[in-house]
Amino acid sequence: MKVPEIFGSLVFNDAAMREHLPKGTYKALKKTIEEGKPLDLNVANVVAHAMKEWALEHGATHYTHWFQPMTGITAEKHDSFISPTEGGCVIMEFSGKELIKGEPDASSFPSGGIRATFEARGYTAWDPTSYAFIKDGSLCIPTAFCSYTGEILDKKTPLLRSMQVISVQALRILRIFGDTTTTRVETTVGPEQEYFLVDKEVFKKRKDLIYCGRTLFGARPPKGQELDDHYFGTIKPRVSAYMKELDEALWKYGIYAKTKHNEVAPAQHELAPVFDSSNIATDHNQLTMATMKDIADKHGLVCLLHEKPFAGVNGSGKHNNWSMSTNTGKNLLDPSKNPRENIQFLVFLAAVIRAVDEHQDLLRISVASAGNDHRLGGNEAPPAIISMYLGDDLSDVLRSVMYNEVYTKKDAPIMETNADVLPNFVKDTSDRNRTSPFAFTGNKFEFRMLGSAENIACTNTIINTIVADVLCDFADELEKAEDVPAAAEALVRKTLLEHKRIIFNGDNYSEEWAIEAERRGLLNYRSLPEALPHYTDEKNVKLFGKHGIYTEVELRSRTEIILENYAKIINIEALTALDMSKKDIVPAVTSYIRELAETASLVKSLNIDTVSLPEVELVQKLSNLLACFVKKIETLEKAVMGAKEVEGVAETAMYYRDHVLAAMQEMRAVADEMESNMAAKYWPYPSYGTMLFSV
Ligand code: ADP
Ligand code: MG
Repeated sequence: MKVPEIFGSLVFNDAAMREHLPKGTYKALKKTIEEGKPLDLNVANVVAHAMKEWALEHGATHYTHWFQPMTGITAEKHDSFISPTEGGCVIMEFSGKELIKGEPDASSFPSGGIRATFEARGYTAWDPTSYAFIKDGSLCIPTAFCSYTGEILDKKTPLLRSMQVISVQALRILRIFGDTTTTRVETTVGPEQEYFLVDKEVFKKRKDLIYCGRTLFGARPPKGQELDDHYFGTIKPRVSAYMKELDEALWKYGIYAKTKHNEVAPAQHELAPVFDSSNIATDHNQLTMATMKDIADKHGLVCLLHEKPFAGVNGSGKHNNWSMSTNTGKNLLDPSKNPRENIQFLVFLAAVIRAVDEHQDLLRISVASAGNDHRLGGNEAPPAIISMYLGDDLSDVLRSVMYNEVYTKKDAPIMETNADVLPNFVKDTSDRNRTSPFAFTGNKFEFRMLGSAENIACTNTIINTIVADVLCDFADELEKAEDVPAAAEALVRKTLLEHKRIIFNGDNYSEEWAIEAERRGLLNYRSLPEALPHYTDEKNVKLFGKHGIYTEVELRSRTEIILENYAKIINIEALTALDMSKKDIVPAVTSYIRELAETASLVKSLNIDTVSLPEVELVQKLSNLLACFVKKIETLEKAVMGAKEVEGVAETAMYYRDHVLAAMQEMRAVADEMESNMAAKYWPYPSYGTMLFSV
């Protein structure tokens, strides 16, 4: 197999367009893509025809508008190309209208109360900036999704809006600094994706994994991740075969799958692509997650994307590497050789710093999910407190700006290997803090709080919007300045002095930091129900309204959807836990107790002179635990029932966290204790050890 030959072979990309479209049509389409102009229907008809011919050549029989509703995953409804002709025959047809617009029934997608069912129609609209591709015999056309009344119901539209807004504002800054050639600024994203692989047969025996994607019970195995022997460890043949097929599948979709390695927890792995424009990176990440699951199935494996499938070992996240670059290919966050003299870079950097400080709430909200709540605040992922890491070099530069000090660039430290055959290294000072939630890593920021299952669109919409908002303010000020460099320097100084509290170069996992952060007045929303209600704070309604990202109605609907979804997830988890407890765990424990009791009475009947029987002791212990467990079941059942009485989505979500989730955790503790004291053959589920070391 030659990679360049298969790369993008399932994508109607630029090369395919050039090959299959008449010259004039190709040019018109390119113009649309580059300048964001609406597509003429005549052009669309020609494009649709060529796309269909290409798709048929590649074995496709159907087409689908592929979109990203508020469910967090992608949606598709497949229509075949067939069109009846005389004599009971068919021809394969696809029109420009079908390419550009779809009208799926939207009534069953989350809308947060935006639509009544009588106006349940929704529209999908082609996003020509993301290439169509073939998946499972269908031509998939990336589209936006909105309601009949025009409110957006998806994650792509706000992202596209935010990309446009940040481009406009960043261009204003570039013009101020004399750049007359750049016509567009693009945000770029490289998402690193973590995941777990478990054996399918093992998975099938765990109702919690099937219904919830995470384990609700499970005693600690004798070995977890304490030896650090899995991280970057040799990849096992079965996993390696999986990764190989995954890479190939992704390459065919034109996805730049680049890096793969074992992660910290047993059975945990990571895949990172080469970065791309935010919109493409988002589509590709959705497609990557779906493909990971598909390919796993073929290998007798299941890919778990949940943020916390297993207690006691690391959960999975997604690092969102983010930057801005010009259409001429210049990275605006590249500090260059002498960042102290690079005032344009400092302006962009200061804008990000202020944006993150002013909108900690939004960044926290953008990564809130029921699954991710298990990570943030645990001692593995960054904590729920947002702070920024800039590294020693940049910190020196910023100090020099803030306090008018002379800046002397320190020489990069050399690491001596002291072995003649090895070269010495220049140490990289930019990225030595792995605990920071928002770290500057050379020429980009790495936002590390995202959960592995999340759609990265939301986070990137927010980063783009908050940075655009500050750039807008900066541009307003600098456009009026007579001496631009002096005004810019003053602006950067003022910004840094006002927002330096957000910068923290130390250990974000330490307890001292939580205290220090509180002293600095930084936010610490530990869970989704605490964070989400702030989505619609006046500051945020204004921000999104000003830049045309969300109307207040859209923002309220989104808030409601997320809160409702949280409550629903915990509810499903609670019902699953109850089902497992009553149907499997209690019967298993009683069977074992019975065996022990029978053994005890048999031994007793032998009239051996013993003080006490170990069987009896164990029966006692397990009976006590079982009695306790049954009480916990009752408490959880009551908690679940009680949720019906709570009014309001925010209140309901909070109730689920405080009562239902808490009751589940207590119940689990008892179950795990029983599992530890039971014969393996009586325990109804594969153990943690089996799951984590099954592949
Ligand atoms: P690490 O594990 O050290 O964080 P990786 O190589 O796993 O590094 O991931 C870094 C990610 O950052 C890659 O996806 C890479 O393409 C991406 N990246 C690099 N430069 C940029 C940039 N300018 N904008 C956005 N993402 C970038
Ligand atoms: Mg990485």
